[in-house]
Amino acid sequence: MRMDCETHGKLTDAYLDGELDAASALAFESHGAGCAGCGPRLASARDERARMSGLLREGITYHRAPPAFRAGVEAALAHASAPPPVARAAAPARFGLGSLAAVAAAAVLASALTWWAASSLGGSRHDPVGELVASHVRSLQVDHLTDIASSDRHAVKPWFAGKLDFTPPVADLGTEGYALRGGRLDYVDSRPAAALAYQRRQHVINLFVWSDAGRDEPAYATQRAGFNVVAWRDRGLRFALVSDLGEDELRGFAERLRKP
Ligand SMILES: [Zn+2]
Repeated sequence: MRMDCETHGKLTDAYLDGELDAASALAFESHGAGCAGCGPRLASARDERARMSGLLREGITYHRAPPAFRAGVEAALAHASAPPPVARAAAPARFGLGSLAAVAAAAVLASALTWWAASSLGGSRHDPVGELVASHVRSLQVDHLTDIASSDRHAVKPWFAGKLDFTPPVADLGTEGYALRGGRLDYVDSRPAAALAYQRRQHVINLFVWSDAGRDEPAYATQRAGFNVVAWRDRGLRFALVSDLGEDELRGFAERLRKP
């Protein structure tokens, strides 16, 4: 989709609710980072959200349940735990009423709990860019950085053939200090993506590549959990670099990858 100021404004709630997919979230953040109008507008919308969820949390902590709500739940529970009016064997049909009240009371409590959990966990919303970082961290932890380990791009590139509906460009920039270590299949938004592993000094860099139709987009940088992310869109593909490498060097790598 075309990310202009109007679209950015319309998507702000969906973004803050964590409802955008990774490609849209990156396009959204990229526009916000470069637009003098939308960047500050997004920041104030986020502040307003934080203020509201703070108020909600305080309300949940300090306000007791309204008396009518409380009385209703207590009555339902009392009724549910009362002995059946008639012996079980004599009237099995009427015995069901007490169970029904218990179910109703449980449903009321469950929906109150769900509402409480949803508002108090507001900070841990779905974050597609954060998921790219999680994928990067996982690739380091489980010793599963590459399915094909090779520094030869002529071995890595054909390995993806038939596994994806696009061909990821594979650059060999070893002479410039970005050693290719290999590639693997990964997933972004539950869709197959190429992940290419590079190394600069002791820093591992993952380059995620997946299909994302739309206009080319310049590289922009963001951060999650202490990791740098540099993303751009080029000829129908979305690229995202993730690493603990410094932002300047990661941006430099992105520039090199974009101009082979
Ligand atoms: Zn804008």
